[in-house]
Amino acid sequence: MLISYKFRLHPSKTVQAKLQEQLGLCRWLYNRLLEEINKAKEDGRKLRQTDTQSLILKLKKGKPELNKVYSKVLQMVNYQLWSNIKALSKLKQNGKKVGKLRYKTGNSFKTMNFNQSGFKIDFQRKKLVLSKVGEIPIKLHRPIEGKIKGVIVKREKSGKWYAIVQAEVGEQVLPPTGKVVGIDVGIQHFCVDSDGNYFENPRFMDRTLNKIKKLQKQLSRKQKTSKNREKARIKLAKAYEKLENQRNDFLHKLSRYYVNNYDVIVVEDLDVKGLVENGKSSTLNRHILDSSWSKFIQLLSFKAERAGRRVVKVNPTNTSKRCVKCGNVLDLKLSDRVFKCQCGWEADRDYNASLNILNVGLGQSRMPVEGEPLPCVISAIEVLQGKFSLRSR
Ligand SMILES: [Zn+2]
Repeated sequence: MLISYKFRLHPSKTVQAKLQEQLGLCRWLYNRLLEEINKAKEDGRKLRQTDTQSLILKLKKGKPELNKVYSKVLQMVNYQLWSNIKALSKLKQNGKKVGKLRYKTGNSFKTMNFNQSGFKIDFQRKKLVLSKVGEIPIKLHRPIEGKIKGVIVKREKSGKWYAIVQAEVGEQVLPPTGKVVGIDVGIQHFCVDSDGNYFENPRFMDRTLNKIKKLQKQLSRKQKTSKNREKARIKLAKAYEKLENQRNDFLHKLSRYYVNNYDVIVVEDLDVKGLVENGKSSTLNRHILDSSWSKFIQLLSFKAERAGRRVVKVNPTNTSKRCVKCGNVLDLKLSDRVFKCQCGWEADRDYNASLNILNVGLGQSRMPVEGEPLPCVISAIEVLQGKFSLRSR
């Protein structure tokens, strides 16, 4: 399986100009191929991925500048276009309202994909060597495990350049633990599991988030073309990067603990959850939380696959409203934190949900429950420092 590493690149001014030019050519090609697909559709013809692939050769004759870009990179533009088309039609199948695939404008084309060939990493001189680009100093801050399969060069909004190195690694199967767990992700806590572990939402991210909001305000007050505005913009982009690093660190450690400790991990299918709960608020906090949950489950699935563990995704309908003891469905409001059923079962709402999730995942209609364990609350700092152990029964 493939794992990705992200390394900072420090291209010279000349190389940056080259990269910019090539990104522009890739963007042109992307739009041109999309245009051809749309045109064909109007004429009642259907183009396939191989059709647009062979079109690239023809386009090169009319636009020889395309030869400035490594040929495999151009092929990957076609590949990316078709991945986007497929992703869009999958969303449509799932009942989401989606428009047409958009053309790429301005700086919205950010990556060049050197797949299998056209790149070399010189570990001694700490340089990334790219065909038709040249040498770029690379900050290799961690060792690369596995066989390197490709490099994606990416320009972030902060103007910084990165190399995403993809490497093929083998499985590392962990011995079974005989334990299973259900996890409910939520707003009150980052997640609550069926063993009574409550993981706090990372508060350190709040601090970075407040800084981001302050910087956003500062930026909006600066004059459009001033030097101070550019400074403020870079500060803001850096704060965002810090937030992402903190978040990823937290999510990596948390998912690692679950994979180490459980054979089967049951989670909600967030694609479905989004549709069911119809999340209306689009605040920055909520947006980051949403993306953190999906990233968390993505990491869980990935690490689990490599470790020979199983992640089961279940339909989240009624998992927070159903009594785990008697199956009764209550009309719970989002503000009701305690689940209190006529049958006598009383528990934290999210804990009840995590038990339901586990039951659905294991295919059991009901599981004997002895009562709620005392919540074991774990802070994000403890997660980051690796200073916690999961309680399990
Ligand atoms: Zn009940």
